[in-house]
Amino acid sequence: MKGSQYAVIGLGRFGSSVAKELIELGFEVLGIDRNEEIVDEMSNVLTHTVVADATDEEVLKSLGIRNFDCAVVAIGDDIQASIMAAILVKDLGVKNVVAKALSELHGKVLHKIGVDRIIYPERDMGIRVAHQLVSPNLLDYIELSKEYTIAELSVTGRISGMTLEQLDTRKKYGCSVVAINKRGGIVIAPTAEDTVDERDIMVVIGTNEQIEDFQQAVS
Ligand code: ATP
Ligand code: ATP
Ligand code: CA
Repeated sequence: MKGSQYAVIGLGRFGSSVAKELIELGFEVLGIDRNEEIVDEMSNVLTHTVVADATDEEVLKSLGIRNFDCAVVAIGDDIQASIMAAILVKDLGVKNVVAKALSELHGKVLHKIGVDRIIYPERDMGIRVAHQLVSPNLLDYIELSKEYTIAELSVTGRISGMTLEQLDTRKKYGCSVVAINKRGGIVIAPTAEDTVDERDIMVVIGTNEQIEDFQQAVS
């Protein structure tokens, strides 16, 4: 959202990475951490930084936290602090609260207190890496539901130069190619005559099974 203001609470590896990227994307970011050294390090990167304990309601109030569109609670190890900070920012009226969870139980608690989005960075990255290890040409994927996925597959030498009709993707495997990312640009909604060339990236939509079959057949 253009003009949105973000508060990032906890500037560890995860929090500082979120905060820096938001700055790169052109947003204003307030970074809060109780560790002075960490705050010093981030002070010339972020719009505003403060050394503060995010479990202190008065501190959060004085920072005007309720005026922020989104708060990211990026405290992990100290689960109690993470939960307290999340309740406080939610209660103080921040509409969109995102929090990092260390475990399923931690995530459940965050969900119960009204956190809008819960992120499990280590768990999710572990799962992603495992998928990429067993399928080297799977670059990335988004699970749309339990059943459906959008996947980015690299085009291998074996199928280089073939058209979608020759691959007969939809008929043979049931999945559709929604885009082909070529060096020169991206082909959206490709048709039967469009070709895939080595090092292009195909964006494919279908069931997990269809995508797996297709991925194995073309790898
Ligand atoms: P990461 O995995 O993101 O690197 P970490 O596991 O190293 O994080 P955490 O304990 O999750 O470290 O804390 C992340 C940051 O949150 C730290 O910089 C820590 O100082 C800060 N932090 C922890 N508790 C509070 C609090 N109550 N108020 C403000 N900052 C806090
Ligand atoms: P469909 O109903 O599956 O699109 P069609 O008879 O209309 O088939 P074409 O659109 O000419 O035929 O495409 C021929 C074949 O090329 C399709 O059966 C399909 O296997 C494949 N194909 C064409 N476009 C795509 C696409 N975007 N993604 C996957 N496969 C495609
Ligand atoms: Ca950690």
